[in-house]
Parts: sequence; C-alpha cells; structure tokens
Amino acid sequence: MSILVYIFKKAEINLKKEFNSKCYEKTDPVSVLSYQSYDEKTAKAALQRLLSPLGILEKISEGSRVVIKANLVSAMKPDEAATTHPTLLVALCEMLIERGCEVVVGDSPGGLYNSVFVGRVYNATGMHAVERVGARLNSDFSQREAEFPEGKVLHSFTYTGYLDNADLIINFAKLKSHGMMGMSCAAKNMFGTVPGVIKPEYHFRFPRYEDFADMIVDLDEYFHPILSIADAVVGMEGNGPTAGTPRQIGCLLASHNPHNLDLLASKILGFAREELPILNAAYLRGMTPGSPEELEVIGSTDGLCLSDFERVVERRSLAFAGDGKSPIKRLFSKIAGAILKTRPVLKKSLCVGCGICRDICPAKAIVIKNKKAVIDRKSCIRCFCCQEFCPKSAMKVHRTALASLFHRKKR
Ligand code: SF4
Ligand code: SF4
Repeated sequence: MSILVYIFKKAEINLKKEFNSKCYEKTDPVSVLSYQSYDEKTAKAALQRLLSPLGILEKISEGSRVVIKANLVSAMKPDEAATTHPTLLVALCEMLIERGCEVVVGDSPGGLYNSVFVGRVYNATGMHAVERVGARLNSDFSQREAEFPEGKVLHSFTYTGYLDNADLIINFAKLKSHGMMGMSCAAKNMFGTVPGVIKPEYHFRFPRYEDFADMIVDLDEYFHPILSIADAVVGMEGNGPTAGTPRQIGCLLASHNPHNLDLLASKILGFAREELPILNAAYLRGMTPGSPEELEVIGSTDGLCLSDFERVVERRSLAFAGDGKSPIKRLFSKIAGAILKTRPVLKKSLCVGCGICRDICPAKAIVIKNKKAVIDRKSCIRCFCCQEFCPKSAMKVHRTALASLFHRKKR
C-alpha cells in the first residue's frame, strides 16, 4: 500500500470514528438562522449559511452513501406543515451530491411500511422533487432486528433495513407540537427508524412517558445521525404532530447533537426543558445542558422566540417533574399527573368510522360502533397514536377544566 493510500484510509477511519462515536456532547454547538420562506432560489444558500459554521458536511468524503431521514409522518401536503419541506430537502440533496455523495431520502410513516403506502406519502409530501437533483427515494422496505445492550431501556428492536446501506445518516426534522411528547423535533424524528406498523407496539412496551422518552434517546444513540437539521420555517402548533395548525416560526436549526438542537428549539417555542420528556431524558443522561443559556449558539434567536405558541395540552404537570431524584417532587408529580391527566376524545362530527385508529391503537382500546370510534377508557394508555394518525383530525387531546386553569396560569 502506498503511503498516500495509507494516509487516506487512516483519515477515513478517523472520520468514521468521529461521526459514529456513541456520545453526543453537551458542548456541541447549535447553529440557527432566521429564514422565512421556502423559496427555491434561496434555500440552498440559506442551508449553506446554517451548516458551514458547523463544518460537518465538509468532512463527508466523496462516494459516501448518505441517508437523509426526513419527517414524512403522513400523506400530507408540504403546506400542511407536518412534514419536512421538499424545497429544503432538495437543497440539501444538491449540496451532498455536489460533494460526490449518493443520497437516499426516506422515512417510515405511521401505517404500513411498503411501496404502495409509502409511495402515497412520497406523492403527497412532494418528495419526488429530490429525484430531479439526483437523489433517490428509499425503495427498500425490509425490516431488521437490532441488539443494543448499551441502550438504557431499548435492548433489542426492529428497524427499517435501508438504514444499513448508509455510511452516514442526516436527520432532517420538522418542528411541531406533539400530543405525547410535547414537542417533535430532532430527537423524536428518529422514531421513524421503527417501521410504521410496529410503532404502536413501542407505546405499549414503554407506557410510562419517561421510558418512552428514554427509548427515543436510545434510538438516537444507536443510529447516531452525524447531523440534525430542523425545518422550523413553518412549524405546527396546536393539535400536532399531524392535526395542528401551520405556524410561521421563521428559522432553521442545525447541530451534530439532536438534543442540543431541541434545547434551542424549546426556547424558541417557550417550553421549559422539564416539560419535554425526551429533552429531560437526554439531560438526565448528560447529553445536553440543563438550560438553553448554557448552549454554544452560532447565530441569534433574537426576534425568533414565540410567546404565544399553542401547545398540545400537556399530559401532566411536568412543572413538577423535576430531576426525578427528589421523593417530594416525585410525589407531587404523581398527584399532579392524576389530577391534570389528559386523554383523547372524539369529535363525533368529524369521525367517518374508517377504523384507522382502531387498527393502530396498541392497547386495542378502540372499537367502531355505528360508524364512530369508541374508546375504552380503562384500556387506554394515552399514547395519542389515535390523535396522531386520524386522517380527519377527529381525535383531540382533551384536558380537564382544572388542567386548563393550571396551564393558563402557568403560561
Ligand atoms: S377517529 Fe379518525 S381514525 Fe378513528 S374512525 Fe374516526 S375518522 Fe377514522
Ligand atoms: S385510545 Fe388512543 S391514546 Fe388510548 S391507547 Fe389507543 S391509540 Fe393510544
């Protein structure tokens, strides 16, 4: 082996080591850029401005196979703000292809994981646009089993096989409110590595929000995207992650560390870290600082922070969640959780009795009677899959009058 080949190989090994290190650092910087539109003419320049200070794309070598894990949660149009916008994905694909990479864009939406179902999602979300610049849409719908003894709660799991063909994964999320986890952004986006029909099982396996959050953090650790980006140009507020309202947020975020990215996103939306179980889990595991003020931020959030972002109603009083160590805080958390509990309720006039919620419910808590969904409250584990996947937005997150009063006061 010539000395040049040896040096090249060694550099490549070091790069892989750096990218695949199973540890996100609290000190990983987050880049933020004010950006207001999905203008095809400016999207690439905006992404370049966002990403170049991080210096991550520059380290990707020619010939690398890159998977962009987008958020394609459902067959919804780009302007419904549930999915990563195609204009941004096209711009990122172009940048990677210019570097000599092979690029595949994929995700596993809720529902069947096959070419027909996912094909419909590609059509609706405008994903075929990436093919125009030479990227491919994933067409491998195989499933694989992983063993992950290092995981905190997730030691074995099923995942989407196409990820095995990637040298590197880039996570391109959408910033939204979320029924179960409060906010959906970079870390939560990696739940899409689990095939759609299997996702409800994970809600059943991890019914406690804290465990579900740790499971997501484990997935992030296992797949370890080298770069996370969030499309927060137009996000979703209210009944998210699929049935909310588009909301102009006006920025792009990026970091090597998905939790640091989420911490800055939480500041923009007005969440405290303790209100977001995934972020809190990452904090307790030492992967992200306790507050956004401790982050190294490249760019400025001036003018971006929203004081009136409409949340999905909270699941319990996370203000009492604390760090999980104090017995008094834990007791308060339990009591508040019971009093302020939220649950899915059906808006009957919108329900068409299609049965999607019944089929997806991991607790088998839904039956269809007289062409309307009926929930068995005792069986319901409040995973909000029915709310997430109802195509008619007929399932809403409901909170008690006491919970409404509490949250109004808190804000
Ligand atoms: S609630 Fe939604 S998913 Fe369930 S049956 Fe009604 S329309 Fe279908
Ligand atoms: S009824 Fe809805 S919230 Fe309750 S377990 Fe079923 S899918 Fe989850």
